[in-house]
Order: sequence, then structure tokens, then C-alpha cells
Amino acid sequence: MANRDLASRAEAATAGPIPFGKPAVVGRELEYIAEAIRNGTIAGGGPFMKRCEAWLEQALPSHRALLAHSCTAALEMAAILTGVGPGDEVVMPSFTFSATATAFVLRGATPVFVDIRPDTLNIDETLIEQAVGERTRVVVPVHYAGLACEMDSIMELAGRLGLLVVEDAAQAHLSHYKGRPLGTIGQLGCLSFHETKNIISGEGGALLVNDPRFADRAEVIREKGTDRSRFFRGQVDKYTWQDIGSSYCPGEIISAFLYAQFEHAEAVCARRRALYDLYREGLRPLAEAGDVSIPAATGAEANGHIFWLLLEDEATRAALIRHLNGQRINAVFHYVPLHSAPAGVKYGRVAGPMAVTDSISSRLLRLPMYLELADAEVARVVAEVGRFFGRNL
Ligand SMILES: *Cc1c(COP(=O)(O)O)cnc(C)c1O
Repeated sequence: MANRDLASRAEAATAGPIPFGKPAVVGRELEYIAEAIRNGTIAGGGPFMKRCEAWLEQALPSHRALLAHSCTAALEMAAILTGVGPGDEVVMPSFTFSATATAFVLRGATPVFVDIRPDTLNIDETLIEQAVGERTRVVVPVHYAGLACEMDSIMELAGRLGLLVVEDAAQAHLSHYKGRPLGTIGQLGCLSFHETKNIISGEGGALLVNDPRFADRAEVIREKGTDRSRFFRGQVDKYTWQDIGSSYCPGEIISAFLYAQFEHAEAVCARRRALYDLYREGLRPLAEAGDVSIPAATGAEANGHIFWLLLEDEATRAALIRHLNGQRINAVFHYVPLHSAPAGVKYGRVAGPMAVTDSISSRLLRLPMYLELADAEVARVVAEVGRFFGRNL
């Protein structure tokens, strides 16, 4: 019955192009940008940055939330804070974005790639220990598509082996693991507000400092290695160069945009979850027939960041992409695994099998997902995927 509903809505849908993603303005972005300009300061560290950080500290309880100009910047700060250097190793999935690895490679450390689970596409927690050696310092779980890694096992293992945990929660803003927001579980967590994510500011990110011992140094690193933050709080009478660091603050105009997004963050994620559920429901007959695999139902714990499906093989995926493109529907794939990318070969190494990563990355397809995607457009995408397999959805 649900499928017949979807089909009738599909007929009602316009035949216009459906992009893969589309950034949306959701509230008072323009108003807040004007306010930031009127405030007379548009560099980092202004009132909107503080409001964003207060919002984050409340929504994702952490010792300290530091806004950054990107998640990559937050990962770089985290890498500095972990103290890794040449010869040290950092365990992470290969099925992730380059930023996860390059932040640590910039410190001279070596990424050690392990395979992922075929169900969540997240790092296989049972393979982490075999990848840990004398020089391993850090584990980086990446919460792919906003679905949580198995954090209990990862935190237990890291604690037992004396490793730090840096969560790459770039895709996982407002997703949870057993009731705890992602990014708040490891010693450090990194979020992204890039325009391709759920909550956006063009470029943008945040470092969540969950272990208080990193908080003071994190501020110094973000402020070009100076104690400028302490100076502005009146804790020192001049600020000086204290440590290594870089320029990781976002400007006020970005923070103003972001704060307007934060005000609607729950609603944005709820809508994406609804779209995710529509896709799941619509494609279930294909999954039952064995044509495709689809991700599990996520309930309220996940943020509906990505809806993926797995095809039989790479050729089927290429043919389906062509079919959808022919219907003006843009669907894309993810990732060229880091261990087989040129820089991954040069700077990293593999520990254990990569069979799941290799297989999944050649068969995964991401369907259009964005706030303003209409139910009828989801129905049209579902119907076209069905038509490709000769089924009437
Ligand atoms: C988007 C993304 C990043 C980088 O985020 P930016 O804010 O663009 O720097 C890092 N890791 C993962 C898993 C991502 O999806």
C-alpha cells in the first residue's frame, strides 16, 4: 500500500532535474549576517562565534566546543593535541574522506587503514586491535553517513591499550550512540558545517574538547599559537607566542550564518530522517528481491545525512547512474578508498584485509538527499531505480 502511495505521488512529481545535494537557507541567516556587520567586528572570536559555541556546548555536552573554519581544521587541531609525530601510527578506516588522514600526515604520523563492517560501513571494531603496534597512539572512528561506530568497544579497547580517540563526526552532527551525541564520546570530536553536510555555513567546523586537559592548548593552537583567548578574558595582561598553532577561527559572517542554522538544526535533521525513511520504505521491495542492499532503519539516533544503496557490482552501478542521469536525477558514489589513492599509498599502510572496503566502494551509490527534496521527488527517484530493475515501484 505504501508503495502504491509512493507511485501515485511519483506521477504527481514534476520531471525537473533532481540534483544530488542543495544547500538551504533555513531561517535568519541574512538578518544575522547584517547584525554581525553592524556589530563592527567581522574577524573570528566575536559574539556570533561565542553564541555558536554556547549552542554546541549545550546541544552536544562537551567540556568545550571550539568553532573552526572547517572540520579539516578541527582534525588538524586534534592531531596537534594528540601529540603524534613521525613514526607514530593512527588507526582509521580507509573508507573515508582524505581530511581524516591528512590531518595526521601533516604531523608526520602514519595512517594505518583497517577494513569496515558491511552493515554500517564504519570501521570494523573487531579489526582495530590487530592493527595496533608499539607506535600506535590514536584511533579515529569515522561515523559514515551519520551512523554511529561501535563506540563502547572502541572506547574500551582504546582505554585498555592507552590510545586516544578522535571522532571524525563530520557527517554526524546531532546523531547519537546509545543516547550520547556523536563527537562527545572520544577525547576529541570533529564536526563539519561544509555546505554538503546537514547543518551548514559554506565552510565550517568545530572541535569538541571532551577531555578537559586539552582545552587550554586547543585555544592556543587555534589562535596562531598565542594566548590571545586568555588575554580577551582578562586572564593575562598581554598575549604572546606560546606554542605551535595556526589560524583556525571562522570569521563572524560565517558564524552568523551558522547560528541561524543551529536554530533549526533539530528540524533539519528530522526532515532528512523522514526522507531517509521514505527511501528505505520505497526501495524495500527491491532489497527483498535481492536487487539492491539498503541500510538499516536508524530511528531517531541518526541524522539522515546520506542514503546509500549497494548494487551487485561496479558495472550495475555505472549503468544505474547512467539511467538516473538520463532521467535528470543526479546520484553519486563514495569514496575511492584512501589505501588505494595515490597519497594513501605514499603516506599510509594497510593492516589486515580490505575486502569489504574494496567491494563496498565499487558498489555504493548515494541518492539525492537535501532539505528541500520533496516527498514526490523521492518517489520519482525510487520509481526510476525500480524501473531500472524492471520493477514497478
Ligand atoms: C566532510 C568531511 C570532512 C571534512 O570536512 P570539511 O568541513 O569540509 O573540512 C572530514 N571527514 C569526513 C568523513 C567528511 O565527510
